[in-house]
Amino acid sequence: METDEELYHATPQTIGKLSHSSIDNKSSHQSYEITSLPIYSEELGLYGKIDIYNQMTKRLIERKYKLKHIFIGQIYQLWAQYFCLIEMGYEVNEIAFYEISTNKMLIQNLPTPLNKEELKVFIQQYRNYDPNSEIKTNTNKCLHCVYCNLCDKTITDNVY
Ligand code: SF4
Repeated sequence: METDEELYHATPQTIGKLSHSSIDNKSSHQSYEITSLPIYSEELGLYGKIDIYNQMTKRLIERKYKLKHIFIGQIYQLWAQYFCLIEMGYEVNEIAFYEISTNKMLIQNLPTPLNKEELKVFIQQYRNYDPNSEIKTNTNKCLHCVYCNLCDKTITDNVY
């Protein structure tokens, strides 16, 4: 965080960061939208920030520049934000991704109690991760990964 992001940010990250700048600056939003709200869950042991919470529709929105596929990690991000907000006393009726490049709102199912258990298992696996353990890489994923140039698990240049 202390170094110049231009040195290590990949192009998709730079585009994503620019598209989020209006949220980070809390500009160009309606008065009923809460943006960049810090969130926390004691139960899950997580903290972070949400993009947008619409107080009128009670919709939680995570903006992504491009969403060709919605990966399970992105769903977990939305679920985690949802559970943090609920624990903080907010009412959330809808969760959604907003794809900036296509101007599309992609409504997702609200997580069930079973989904919450799934998220807890994932968080525990993440906490138990040993960097010295063997890691199975997915060549196709590495090829499109924005961390590829920083990661020692691949020597392939990425194609984004
Ligand atoms: S390049 Fe590294 S961080 Fe990216 S997907 Fe491959 S193993 Fe994971």
